[in-house]
Amino acid sequence: MIVDLHSHTHCSDGHLSPQDVVYRASERGVSVLAITDHDTIAGLPIAHITAREVGIQLVNGIEFSSQWGRGGVHIVGLGIDPMAPAMQSAIAYQFDSRESRSRAIADRLAKAGIPNAYEGARELAGGESIGRPHFAQFLVNQGAVSNMNAAFKRFLGTGKYADVKYEWPSMEQVIEWIVQSGGIAVLAHPAKYDLTRMKMCAMIDSFAAAGGQAIEVISGQQLPTLTADLVKIANARSLMASCGSDFHFPDQPWQDLGNFGSLPDTAVPVWSALRLAS
Ligand code: AMP
Ligand code: MN
Ligand code: MN
Ligand code: MN
Repeated sequence: MIVDLHSHTHCSDGHLSPQDVVYRASERGVSVLAITDHDTIAGLPIAHITAREVGIQLVNGIEFSSQWGRGGVHIVGLGIDPMAPAMQSAIAYQFDSRESRSRAIADRLAKAGIPNAYEGARELAGGESIGRPHFAQFLVNQGAVSNMNAAFKRFLGTGKYADVKYEWPSMEQVIEWIVQSGGIAVLAHPAKYDLTRMKMCAMIDSFAAAGGQAIEVISGQQLPTLTADLVKIANARSLMASCGSDFHFPDQPWQDLGNFGSLPDTAVPVWSALRLAS
């Protein structure tokens, strides 16, 4: 059984529609899928219709941006009730945060001689919330850089000119939103924050102390030694284990739906706590 609990649609910074993400997951043999768009659940209703059509179990998900110390940390909520008042107000809060951050990014870009970036990113995002990848795409379209990666390297990445200092809500706050919405809080891709192992463990300790219940021990293609280490770290803290591709685009095989190693037997799968049909 392939369980993929981390994926994106064009409701945030993915390229495919929610329907196409579900179709692709099904074609690739995924039987349980969570769609976890950045700070939005807009893709879930239509994805559920497609999931029923193709016989995939769809888990309601979201990937929230949160703050830990000076850095941003992503927390996935699984099995959330999209209609819960806490979820509705969390999404409204994050939408506003992304709007004001986007205005600040656009101001910086205007100072660098690239005007109208807010309008450009807004158009690319459609009616949904804006992320840095929308700015990156705008910069590529304008000819300011040759590709998305260069946009992050030159303008949008950490410490770069248009990297505005933005304070996301605390880990505690985000975990509370998820728990109040009936979901399970999962620390996303702990090895991808550019931290030393010691710092990463400190982050996981803070997450567990704040009520987080699981960590992603697998995020896309990765070395089995990393998976084994993360399982050990999770088990030592009585945290459950999650896994997912973090799928965004069809042309990235190392982050494609269902394309990752299986969970080691020693891990406690997070889906043991999700209400999945058997
Ligand atoms: P945001 O949540 O608006 O800060 O945007 C973060 C998203 O940007 C991540 O989830 C990635 O999908 C994407 N991202 C981050 N760094 C890069 C990069 N160097 N190249 C392309 N995409 C990136
Ligand atoms: Mn993303
Ligand atoms: Mn993430
Ligand atoms: Mn993600």
